[in-house]
Amino acid sequence: MQGLMQHGALTVDKIIDHAAQWHGAREVVTRSVEGPIVRTTYGAIRDRAKRVSNALLAMGIKPGDRVGTLAWNTARHMEAWYGIMGIGAVCHTLNPRLFPEQIAWIANHAGDRVIFVDLTFLPIIAGVLHHLPSVEHVVLFTDRGHMPADFRPAGEAPNFKGLVCFEDMVEQHHADCAWGGFDEGTAAGLCYTSGTTGDPKGVLYSHRSNVLHTLITLQPDVMGLSQKDVILPVVPMFHANAWGVAFSAPGTGAKMVMPGAKMDGASIFELLDTEGVTFSAAVPTVWQMLLHHLKETGAKLPVLKKVVIGGAACPEHIIRAFHDDYDVEVVHAWGMTETSPVGTLSVMTDALEKLPYDQQMPYRLKQGRPPFGVELKLTDDAGRRLPHDGKSFGNLKIRGPIIAAEYFRGAGGKILDDEGFFDTGDVATIDDHGFMQITDRAKDVVKSGGEWISSIDIENIALGHPKAAMTAVIGVPHPKWDERPILLVKLMEGETATKEEFLEFLQGKIAKWWMPDDVVFVDEIPLGATGKIDKKLIRQRMKDYVLPGLAAAPTGEGAAEAAAEPEAPAATLAAADGAQATRIYAPEPEDPLSEPPPLPEPQVVEALAHAESEARIEPEPQPEPEVAAPIRAAPPATPLAPEVEPLFEQRGQEEHFPLGPLAPAPAVASVSEDAFQAAPVFAADDAPLAMPLVPSRKGGKAKAKAKEAANKAKGGFTSGLLDLTILIALAPALLVGAGALGVKSGLFPLALGYQQMTLDWAPKAAMLGVATGVLGLIVALFGGFSRFWKKALLALTITVATLAAMVAANAVGGGAPPIHDVSTDWKTPLMLSDAALAARGGEAQTVEADPSLPVGSLAFAGRRVADVNAETCAAARPLVVARSPADAYEAAKVAVQAAGLSIVTDDPIDGRLEATGQSFWYGLKDDLVVRVRPDTAGARVDMRAIGREAGGDRGRNCRRVGDLLAVVKG
Ligand code: AMP
Repeated sequence: MQGLMQHGALTVDKIIDHAAQWHGAREVVTRSVEGPIVRTTYGAIRDRAKRVSNALLAMGIKPGDRVGTLAWNTARHMEAWYGIMGIGAVCHTLNPRLFPEQIAWIANHAGDRVIFVDLTFLPIIAGVLHHLPSVEHVVLFTDRGHMPADFRPAGEAPNFKGLVCFEDMVEQHHADCAWGGFDEGTAAGLCYTSGTTGDPKGVLYSHRSNVLHTLITLQPDVMGLSQKDVILPVVPMFHANAWGVAFSAPGTGAKMVMPGAKMDGASIFELLDTEGVTFSAAVPTVWQMLLHHLKETGAKLPVLKKVVIGGAACPEHIIRAFHDDYDVEVVHAWGMTETSPVGTLSVMTDALEKLPYDQQMPYRLKQGRPPFGVELKLTDDAGRRLPHDGKSFGNLKIRGPIIAAEYFRGAGGKILDDEGFFDTGDVATIDDHGFMQITDRAKDVVKSGGEWISSIDIENIALGHPKAAMTAVIGVPHPKWDERPILLVKLMEGETATKEEFLEFLQGKIAKWWMPDDVVFVDEIPLGATGKIDKKLIRQRMKDYVLPGLAAAPTGEGAAEAAAEPEAPAATLAAADGAQATRIYAPEPEDPLSEPPPLPEPQVVEALAHAESEARIEPEPQPEPEVAAPIRAAPPATPLAPEVEPLFEQRGQEEHFPLGPLAPAPAVASVSEDAFQAAPVFAADDAPLAMPLVPSRKGGKAKAKAKEAANKAKGGFTSGLLDLTILIALAPALLVGAGALGVKSGLFPLALGYQQMTLDWAPKAAMLGVATGVLGLIVALFGGFSRFWKKALLALTITVATLAAMVAANAVGGGAPPIHDVSTDWKTPLMLSDAALAARGGEAQTVEADPSLPVGSLAFAGRRVADVNAETCAAARPLVVARSPADAYEAAKVAVQAAGLSIVTDDPIDGRLEATGQSFWYGLKDDLVVRVRPDTAGARVDMRAIGREAGGDRGRNCRRVGDLLAVVKG
């Protein structure tokens, strides 16, 4: 029995609607990228976000299209977010701290069509735009006065239509736009993980998951926000949605304070102080800088009540300083991009709160307990659950409606275990109070200032040094940046080398802030049982190691001072003993911390130096210099940082998704499409213009002549009109033919040849043909039927035949629902493998486990494709045959080949077959995946066929699945 309550879709537009309606005058204050502090309200943000929506719709952005942002936390960024998500498009936050090549790779993988960008990051976009074929517009978050006089991409960007001024865009569009109306499972946001193992992977948040995450964060034991709060999210919107604050703050009506590009201690303090901030969230490094500033200036924090600290383990001295010196409660939190990101929080239970503060500290240092809505488990490598005894450590796994079920475009394959839990890659313990503690990271990334450094990437590049036999990178404690990387090198037999040689070798190949703080030459790099470098053992051996220029790794209160006043020489691990001996190199004479800090003064800056741009990149945790200067010169057309080897191969879309294996397949028998597209081209057997005039038999010569002249004039007009009628009658067929030929030969894009010429113009031309055909008949009756009957009949025949062909085509395909995705199993949906996705190409429509129809698709707007399939494609049912799975697989393969499809994956062991098919007329491509599994009755065969183009396929894939299953059935 169903409950009888209302069912409103949980979509994020309702969050800003609520804020605008009930807290419309509540302020959102921003330190603008241009410099001044600017103020707006939730009411104005919603109004302007609607204008952004209209502007995007005018650009042709459709539901499901990805729209990127490369920007700091500002009110404008929020307007773009809500404007994008409100119309069902996907807001893809790009992380400006990555290499330009990485940004380009990610934007290509996402298929961003528009990118909103801050002034500070425009040079990055200028430098990579020619590698972004999907990007059509770049919108600059600024006003007309700050627009660059001359903006040129660094290379030819054929699809780029121009740079748009955000303020102009907002001004030029009206605020009347219908939001929502789609399924709550619709994608809302996209954020890529750091990709420290392999390529970055996209986490695709849904409206539902974002709304549920918002409700979760509002619980008192999570963020516990109120409309009375003043919230400063320092954590960037491009880092896991600013931990959801850009939703939770408007969700509760709290005032927001956005830090823009400046996140150094003094700037953050200024905002905390002048705006009366009560709640804030950031990584430990930011708080370290703030505490340092407070100590130096003697300033206080009388209004601030609570800070959430996460992203990396929070050191004790930060928790103590906030508590003891400033009476601010610290909530230590753990989460990840894949968890939206809130996972656990170390909020004291009632029992623990009664303990003296010192006894609470071990729990406060842990990552904490999950809120309602999040489930956790600890398992050993065999997947068996481990006890919550605070000692047993194992793989931390997580489940819930705010946790990723798979990555965008199926990257990495299946990511959930049999119980639906996601493996976080973290190793943890859980104690008897339910407090989780991260003990290690499965991936050995180095966390520097809240950002990850890939140890493997540095190792691999360093290994390219001719003297290196083996290399390993580990993170070592650092008082300011949490961890810094050091490089261990085992040299080739008989070689000697210096630290500088290796650092120089790395120079330009990795970002500055990735540069190891030290190079240690060792006799041996230990390998584990599986032949991989045993980092655990290395860390154990290096446990007494201290970075050059630092005193013994500080813990507790001394850390900030240590950062400010580093002490000289590091301890040595072992005495130098000849060229091959294990030794630690002497520390640098200068204090590394007195230099520009190593954190994200990223690669981008190096790249921009090449581009001779005056724009500055000012990443989060850096002490901020002056406000970004407006961009005055466009970067020259030189490649970015030409000598830089990207950390992971930079690949264009084609390279990454090679179309190679897809040799054009022979035509797939597809009756309907052929019937639809094969509007007949008729040829007249007699050339109409060569028809003889019938001479008059009556009257005298003169009379006859006069009559003949009059007839000639009249006949010429009638004849010309009928010729035109015939041409109009032929037009639909000509349009369809030209469209097909144009697309096939690559002369026209699909949108012109297929969608416009064939689907749009041809039916209109056919209707015109009917009108002119009838008109032709009437004209022939009056103009001398005996003379013109042949022409009139020809025009009419062509018209009737064209119309009949169109009606037939419509009968076969026109009634099909507006979908291109047909599956026999939506419960355990068949997903394409990485290989098939690669073959499918970056431009293709995404393959989702449970897609919904876009709002604009009239008949089935907003409904789940699974439900539409069930109603409209009777053929899409799993097939159970009384054969062995191997036989059934073979039969399916034969059927696929006989239908002329090209096989991409042929895996009889796994029962997985993937193929691609191409339509004869237009070369429209569809991908097919077949799964054969054992069944009690023999074998079960499932299929999913998906068109690469958006919109309807006129039933092509439904018929394909039906036809193939019929053949397998025999
Ligand atoms: P990201 O997806 O970039 O936010 O990184 C998520 C990872 O950061 C987690 O899997 C943890 O390894 C690490 N992490 C996040 N919060 C904490 C924390 N409070 N303590 C230790 N590690 C953390």
